[in-house]
Amino acid sequence: MVRLAKNPTVNKVVGDQCMFGGEFVKPTLWLTNAPHLNILAKQCPGAPRHVHEKLVGLTRNFWGETVFKTSLAAEYLQGLCEELAKAYLLELEHHPVSKEVGQRKIARTLTRFQKLLTERRRMSSVLGG
Ligand SMILES: [Zn+2]
Repeated sequence: MVRLAKNPTVNKVVGDQCMFGGEFVKPTLWLTNAPHLNILAKQCPGAPRHVHEKLVGLTRNFWGETVFKTSLAAEYLQGLCEELAKAYLLELEHHPVSKEVGQRKIARTLTRFQKLLTERRRMSSVLGG
C-alpha cells in the first residue's frame, strides 16, 4: 500500500462516508489511477448541515450485543456502491475500447455490482443493519 501511494500515477482521493448516506463522517482514502473515481472526493459540510456522532467507543447492535461503533461502519454503504457503479458506467460509456468490448465491460461491471449488493444485503441481515 505504501509503495502504491508513492506511485506518481496514483491519486489519493478522500471521501467522507456521510456524503454517501453514512451515519458517521468516516473519511475514507482511495488510492486510484482512475480519474472517474474523483467522484468519491466529497467532504462533509459540517454543522449545521451535518451533525454526527463520533465513530469511537461502544454501542449496541441489532441483537443488543455490545460492539465497537467502527464495526457497524465497516461495510460499504449503499450510496457509495451506487456512486461507484455510476462512475464505472460513465467511464465505460465515455471510453469504450470498442463498442463490443465496452458492452462486455458494462455487463461485467453490472454483474459485479449485483454481487456486491447481494453480499451487502447478506451482511446486513447477519449484522442486523
Ligand atoms: Zn457529514
